[in-house]
Amino acid sequence: MGNSENLYEYIINTASDMITLIGRDYRYKVVNDSYCTGKNLSRGEILNASVAEIWGEEKFNSVIKPYLDRCFAGEEVHYVERFEFGLSWRYVHVSYYPYKMKDNDISHVLVFNHDITKLGEIESRLLNYEFRDLVTGLFNNRSLEIILDMELEKAKRSKTEKNKALLILSVNNYQCISLEQGITIGNMLLENTGIRIKDCLRTTDYVFRFNGSELAVLLTGIKDVEEPVIVAQKILNAVTVPYRNKEDTICMNCSIGIAISPEDGQDYNSLVSSASKALAAALHEGREFRLFDNKVQNKIITRIQMRNELHRAIDQKEFELYYQPIVDERRRICGCETLVRWNHPERGLVGPSEFIPLAEETGIISALSKWILFETSKQISSWSRDYGIYTSVNLAAREYANDDLPAVLEAALAQAGDLSPEYLHLEITESETMKDPDQAIMRMNQLRDRGFQIYMDDFGTGHSSLCYLKNIPADVLKLDKSFIDDLHHEPDSLSFLKMIIHLADNRRKNLIIEGVETEEQLDILIREGCNRFQGFLFSEPLRAGEFEKLLKAPPAH
Ligand code: C2E
Ligand code: CA
Repeated sequence: MGNSENLYEYIINTASDMITLIGRDYRYKVVNDSYCTGKNLSRGEILNASVAEIWGEEKFNSVIKPYLDRCFAGEEVHYVERFEFGLSWRYVHVSYYPYKMKDNDISHVLVFNHDITKLGEIESRLLNYEFRDLVTGLFNNRSLEIILDMELEKAKRSKTEKNKALLILSVNNYQCISLEQGITIGNMLLENTGIRIKDCLRTTDYVFRFNGSELAVLLTGIKDVEEPVIVAQKILNAVTVPYRNKEDTICMNCSIGIAISPEDGQDYNSLVSSASKALAAALHEGREFRLFDNKVQNKIITRIQMRNELHRAIDQKEFELYYQPIVDERRRICGCETLVRWNHPERGLVGPSEFIPLAEETGIISALSKWILFETSKQISSWSRDYGIYTSVNLAAREYANDDLPAVLEAALAQAGDLSPEYLHLEITESETMKDPDQAIMRMNQLRDRGFQIYMDDFGTGHSSLCYLKNIPADVLKLDKSFIDDLHHEPDSLSFLKMIIHLADNRRKNLIIEGVETEEQLDILIREGCNRFQGFLFSEPLRAGEFEKLLKAPPAH
């Protein structure tokens, strides 16, 4: 192996995958040893032969050529197909990679063929009784070992289905039931529990009898850590419905331990061990289910609890509006931003970043938004009269897109004694408008026609193109805090600020600078010509009563 070419050749020829390089003329330019052995042909017989000659016209035209053409057009292609090798058929995971020999055009396709026949064989063997529990008919523990390893192997190769979840469900009172009702009833109930669980799953998920009183569930293709928890709750609801046996009512008392791969384990042993530990912890803590990872467990429990509590929170009047001043260059208050808080009876004050997304998920946001708009309209109706100030209120994306929004706004103004829309400004984040710019612009125009000013919130963070921003019909841009954080020691920040000021001037839009915390920042901003500010330097968001005191007091500077 004197030079690198020999080295490549050595590597290619010792690879167990079958590797080839195909030219634009659909002929073989390179083949490795595995390929020749697999096809039982010599290198000379394959090199420069056409793919159609090697695989037959039919296979070439119906399967291979369409994929090759996609790859020649620039796409990386992966597929699984059955190919005939000599006397046997093999399942092959095929990967095509575009390959450029010299210039920029794709001249070849680099092909990797990975034989996965073994996985296919395993799947068919599993239909066999040796892998089933004779009592319940469910897959047995040996199957779990094989299927779990197979699924974890698939996950490593998949781009989209990276996470799998293993749930171990224990029927805690199985011994008791078997003693009282007899072993036959006990087994029947276990079998039926398996059936009930299957009804909660997708066809790609599996149920196993793990051992005596425990069943295991394998969920494939988990998108969110909350998904296995939702399934666990569904399973618990289904399996704890009582059975009737003559006069007796039999209730299964169950707990579930959950482990998620790859985080909690990447093979059979480690994942099963994590799920078992989670189950032990669930039993110890007297919970119905438990995730292996403590942090994830706490996060999810909080999310689930808060989501349920949100329903109650509106009825119980647990939300409260805070107001943060928006000031001019002489620190006089010209307006305020309405910011909602949740006075949670146990958790204390909860910030909107924590609960607004949950409110959006559950749909509660509609009722909450309505309450916020009505409440702040009433408040600003009095402050606009007494102090001449306006408020700007944040609109959640889901509400902004809601067709009822104009009607809700009209109603909010009406119940606040026919408040003029000039005192109620509406904030919508730049990133949200970017999801459907045309729709967002239509809605902005519709609201502006009714007299509302539109603020583009978190301006600069939404990755919009300048061309789009130039034409956005917003009245006010709220420059995100992140752009002024380094203003006094970052020349780039100052250049960016100047550019935004220029853009705003040019398009006749007002600019509000958010998150002003220091005198240095304020000095630079005033020097550059900004005249509206918001931030802790002036005041944190305040309760209505506190805010009103500020309105009455003269500015500090
Ligand atoms: P936002 O609209 O960007 O609101 C400004 C956030 O920055 C507020 O946090 C405010 O307390 C904070 N802030 C103000 N000045 C400073 C400063 O000088 N330094 C720092 N570090 N932070 C400052 P808050 O109240 O926690 O609100 C977070 C987000 O929640 C808001 O971000 C807004 O997107 C959303 N939100 C708040 N109230 C509502 C509401 O009533 N409805 C909806 N849909 N969303 C809301
Ligand atoms: Ca805002």
